[in-house]
Amino acid sequence: MAIGTACAIVLNLGLKNGRSEVVEECIERYNEKFSGDVPKKLSDVYIFTVFVRLPGIKLKKVYLFIKKCAIIGSDTDNIIRRDNMLKGKVAVVTGGTRGIGYAIVKKYLENGAKVVLFGSRKETVDKALASLKAENADWEAEGAYPDLSDPQKVEEAIEAVKEKFGRLDILVNNAGISDSTKVDNYEPGQFEKVINLNVNSIFYAVRPAVKIMKEQGGGCIINTSSMVSISGQPGGAAYPASKFAVNGLTLSLARELGPSNIRVNAVAPGITRTDMVAALPKEMIEPMAAAIPLRRVGEPEDVANAFLFLASDMASYVTGEVLSVDGAMRA
Ligand code: NAD
Repeated sequence: MAIGTACAIVLNLGLKNGRSEVVEECIERYNEKFSGDVPKKLSDVYIFTVFVRLPGIKLKKVYLFIKKCAIIGSDTDNIIRRDNMLKGKVAVVTGGTRGIGYAIVKKYLENGAKVVLFGSRKETVDKALASLKAENADWEAEGAYPDLSDPQKVEEAIEAVKEKFGRLDILVNNAGISDSTKVDNYEPGQFEKVINLNVNSIFYAVRPAVKIMKEQGGGCIINTSSMVSISGQPGGAAYPASKFAVNGLTLSLARELGPSNIRVNAVAPGITRTDMVAALPKEMIEPMAAAIPLRRVGEPEDVANAFLFLASDMASYVTGEVLSVDGAMRA
């Protein structure tokens, strides 16, 4: 319920009970303090109206009560409604065409964000966009496919988002490749390929994004790390090495960019049901899955929920955090 409607109800009841001047002054002070359209739950309005109707209530008490209602009301609305947590925000999600990235894109769109998803090829980007449009034609989703190994191309793609939408609030660096090669079997350049995509490309996207976020007074960056950034893994050493680097980048950027009101966090998924996991050898995955305390593999949506929280104002004081979403597998 919009605050205007809430005030109208309150004002009506207040007038009926001969306390119009108290109510009017409360609303005036309320609007001064909380300018804009603060959503309120109907139940909060009912509690408030009962309060106003009680005899002998002092103006200051009523005002403080409205203030409390507004704060609690807007928070609980966010938790309960879950459909507007990113209203008005603009997000870029790399690796957004499938798996975890696609789930993040969808979650952000459901919550009112405008999203530009980055993929590696036009066909996969178009396919992902078509699938999103089929779910909800009103969602504002766009796509791009810059070469993430080319800093210039990445910069141009990020700047194009600013040109189109006027801002960039959320950068999700999610594109990544996995690896299970034993140390003796690495081909020349194979180790570097993993590091290039999983680490260097993040830095290439962060630089132009930070420039925009600084200009607009803030923003947030969320990197996809991995459970193996804590535990390491037997084989495919390039992959955990890259994810340890992601954590280092996350923590350092959080400290550097905090004064510019830019929060930087990472999400460390455990084994999650995506193409990446399907491509890994069974004998590597099965013993790991059997050891998960929650006794199931994660779903992309489990992970996307963490990205939603970290991107939202609910995480306004969370930065420099690597949030594990792994069913306690690493514990
Ligand atoms: P996925 O293979 O389904 O998706 C990977 C995404 O990255 C795709 O959208 C793909 O287009 C993009 N990508 C790959 N190479 C690219 C390139 N060269 N240029 C541009 N984009 C490229 O994998 P996923 O499981 O959804 O993985 C997403 C992220 O989650 C990765 O960073 C991965 O390391 C991480 N992760 C996954 C798991 C898991 O179990 N699935 C666990 C921990 C971390």
